[in-house]
Amino acid sequence: MSKHDYDLLVLGGGSGGLAGAFRAAEHGARVALLEPHELGGTCVNLGCVPKKAMWLAAEMAQRSALAAQMGFNLAAPVLDWPEFIVHRQRYIGGIHASYRKRLDEARVVEVQSHGRLVDAHTVQCEDGTRISAGRILIATGGRPRRPAIPGVELGIDSDGFFNLCAAPARTAIVGAGYVGIELAGVLQALGSRVEIFARGSCLLQGFERELTTALEDNGRQHGLQYHFGFDLASVERAAGDGVVLVSTQGQRSERFDSLILAAGRVPNTGDMGLEQVGVHTDTHGFVQVDGKQDTNVDGISAVGDVTGQLALTPVAIAAARRLMDRLFGGKPEARLDYDNIATVVFSHPPLGSVGLTEAQARERHGDAVTVYRSHFRPMLHALADSPQRSLFKLVCVGPEQHVVGLHLLGEGVDEILQGFAVALKKGITKADLDDTMAIHPTAAEELVLMR
Ligand SMILES: Cc1cc2nc3c(=O)[nH]c(=O)nc-3n(C[C@H](O)[C@H](O)[C@H](O)COP(=O)(O)OP(=O)(O)OC[C@H]3O[C@@H](n4cnc5c(N)ncnc54)[C@H](O)[C@@H]3O)c2cc1C
Repeated sequence: MSKHDYDLLVLGGGSGGLAGAFRAAEHGARVALLEPHELGGTCVNLGCVPKKAMWLAAEMAQRSALAAQMGFNLAAPVLDWPEFIVHRQRYIGGIHASYRKRLDEARVVEVQSHGRLVDAHTVQCEDGTRISAGRILIATGGRPRRPAIPGVELGIDSDGFFNLCAAPARTAIVGAGYVGIELAGVLQALGSRVEIFARGSCLLQGFERELTTALEDNGRQHGLQYHFGFDLASVERAAGDGVVLVSTQGQRSERFDSLILAAGRVPNTGDMGLEQVGVHTDTHGFVQVDGKQDTNVDGISAVGDVTGQLALTPVAIAAARRLMDRLFGGKPEARLDYDNIATVVFSHPPLGSVGLTEAQARERHGDAVTVYRSHFRPMLHALADSPQRSLFKLVCVGPEQHVVGLHLLGEGVDEILQGFAVALKKGITKADLDDTMAIHPTAAEELVLMR
């Protein structure tokens, strides 16, 4: 008999925590999971899922406009936002129910409470109850960062965005990372006039620059406005109603009805007893883990956004599953390979990326890098006489032209990228792409026809 109440105690019922709990239970471990809010964490409740629902609504609005341009007799589409939210939340409710059923079936004990570490094997719940376990998994995720500036309370963040019941007439978005870009695209497509304010000089830093520049141009065509080099110092209430943004250099924005702060995310590591137990965090509060997801304290591991590693749902899930395979499934070498993880920004059009950017490849491989591009107008947009274009870029290395990076901007790339990500991970060369017969007429065929 174990001297602990459980074999595994999971803090956090989001993507990583749930995946870890299910996989450990599959391996026969006795598992308890603590979650103070809705099951599913950020992804299901305030991230991927409601965001994708809003993106789909925005896509439909844009497609209706294209259809009208092509001769369909359609009135300008207006979204009944509250009705759409009913559909969105019903879908999310279904996910909650499915998780609850799966937890029951897996005999995972769910405790609706925030947890605080007491020692390396014990967690205290809000009501003072203590639970002990052989292993503890920290999967407490993160939350939006709110800059410490005067007037910050006048803005909402991505969590607040999901409470909106209509598109504000004019919206300012602070931040040009993927969350800011995605929310900007949705609101612009659904009728808001959106302006993006960013400290840096471009959108989506770290992504392939040629594509982000093309995305920026495309946004302008749809009416988005950008203010780069704008370092937000304060937010003021405008005369009448709304807000005005003020920069550190004294620039004042026009008046906006709504301000959305998309200025990064911070880990949920406060009030968790980490210092007491001696778990190391970095200067931003992210839990530090090694290549096997273990912290410096024996018996405590961490996965997902709380670790500051790639903040994506499939990454949190895969890291948790491999960790449980190692701890309870007899696979001592199981661990997540963080290289070549594909990601999509759900902008309009979407932007997908896997592997090295051209700049990263040149830094590592110098003149051995060859780049191929295809810049084209997708058929739908050509038919509707819309200016939107796609840009696909392939980064290859060495005489054999190993494909080390694939960067796609355009209609449908959110679905195109997955299969090509498998190929890149398997180590294909440009010749392999050349040998593959095109599927015609599609946008994806551009990837096997580049010269
Ligand atoms: C707007 C937005 C859009 C996104 N879109 C995408 C996307 O399209 N694709 C994608 O892959 N990723 C996306 N992400 C990122 C994705 O949501 C996260 O990477 C993922 O949810 C991380 O999972 P996690 O388990 O680490 O944390 P979370 O899902 O955040 O779960 C953490 C859970 O821990 C709980 N918790 C916190 N403290 C405690 C405590 N002390 N005790 C017990 N429980 C605690 C929280 O209540 C929460 O439920 C998006 C994120 C945002 C904000």
